[in-house]
Amino acid sequence: MLKIEGLTAEVEGKEILKGIDLEVPTGEIHAIMGPNGSGKSTLSYVLSGREGYEITGGSATFNGQDLLAMEPEERAAAGLFLAFQYPVELPGVGNANFLRTALNAIRRGKGEPELDAMQFLKLARERMKALSMPEDMLKRGVNVGFSGGEKKRNEVLQMALLNPSLAILDETDSGLDIDALKIVAEGVNAMRGPNFSSLVITHYQRLLDYIVPDRVHVLMNGRIVQSGGPELAKQLEAGGYNSVQAA
Ligand code: ADP
Ligand code: MG
Ligand code: MG
Repeated sequence: MLKIEGLTAEVEGKEILKGIDLEVPTGEIHAIMGPNGSGKSTLSYVLSGREGYEITGGSATFNGQDLLAMEPEERAAAGLFLAFQYPVELPGVGNANFLRTALNAIRRGKGEPELDAMQFLKLARERMKALSMPEDMLKRGVNVGFSGGEKKRNEVLQMALLNPSLAILDETDSGLDIDALKIVAEGVNAMRGPNFSSLVITHYQRLLDYIVPDRVHVLMNGRIVQSGGPELAKQLEAGGYNSVQAA
């Protein structure tokens, strides 16, 4: 499980996370909601080990391991997956090679044999079929010319291939049409199981109609100010974040 205690972090000398306490047990899906600028992306970047974020206090462990002491590659090998809010485009890098390189890096980290191109293609085709993704998305440059929905489908494919034990999805619903949103939700729901947990970060209640979370947490001004069941998301949709602030 993921266990965060008293986590504080700064960006460029400014305190953004002001003491985060959060536990996501294995097998559960938790949502983090909150207004723009509350620190949601900062939390996901800190957990993934992105540069430029200074941890000033507290702890984060993943299955008992000190997550914050691990290199980003070690976090990935330990089963952490982060879907980025703005996926990068990599012209000239074929999507299949990109995905296979990412998968093999994780397999090496776990001491598992790497997949050759044929083995990878077989696996990728299986997963893409399950996700109703056109095969030509493997041949194109990474995210080049992909629509917003296709980028998200590609992230879901990446997640399905890497088979993480903890997936952090940041604002996966921004700019998504309803069909793409359902594909993302189906991708997450298909991963559900006793060895998978997820932290779904979103502005909107809409996504949580399709991914029903076990718990919902409200992040405001660098702190989790309220936690509850799926009904909390409905309450936020009806009353806005002010309804929580006042509570
Ligand atoms: P959210 O994802 O909830 O919208 P962010 O984590 O992106 O919030 O940002 C939280 C706060 O941190 C904002 O006030 C933002 O301006 C600030 N911030 C984020 N990244 C940087 C950065 N690289 N440099 C300076 N301030 C930043
Ligand atoms: Mg934002
Ligand atoms: Mg954000």
